[in-house]
Amino acid sequence: MEQSLREAILVDYARRRPGCGFDGAGSRVTDATAVRSVHRRNPLCGDEVVLRLEVAAGDATITHLRWDGRGCIVSQASAAMLASRAEGMTAAQLQRLSREVHELIVDQSGAPGDIDENDDLATLAGIGRFPLRARCAALAWDALDEAIGRDSAPVTGHDRGPE
Ligand SMILES: [Zn+2]
Repeated sequence: MEQSLREAILVDYARRRPGCGFDGAGSRVTDATAVRSVHRRNPLCGDEVVLRLEVAAGDATITHLRWDGRGCIVSQASAAMLASRAEGMTAAQLQRLSREVHELIVDQSGAPGDIDENDDLATLAGIGRFPLRARCAALAWDALDEAIGRDSAPVTGHDRGPE
């Protein structure tokens, strides 16, 4: 992907911030939903990302994912890209996508791997050749891995009162 196009896509996501903000979050939470919240920081760049996602107990579908944060364009755009496609995927599918994104970031050839070169996520390809930027690009996906990887009881989710 052409560098100027990559930059334009990243700036666009960082500006629009799809999925950003927690207004109305949790309105569909039931006893069959686990709610996971993770707050991650990248002190090297000053980036912060908070992810909040709801996972259906039965088939582990991500029914809701919102985020908020601050920091550089790469960190915020990467979180927005995650948020713009997570809902409707299963936890396993999202974990697989996260693995591919992590590989994409550090791929020195800039080859998109399993992610199509026209996919917006391909803008993150090879960003790891700037070591400080790799942490920015991976921040939201690291938060996702932590949120999904947790096997413990949900952090919240039974605090909405009786159905
Ligand atoms: Zn950053």
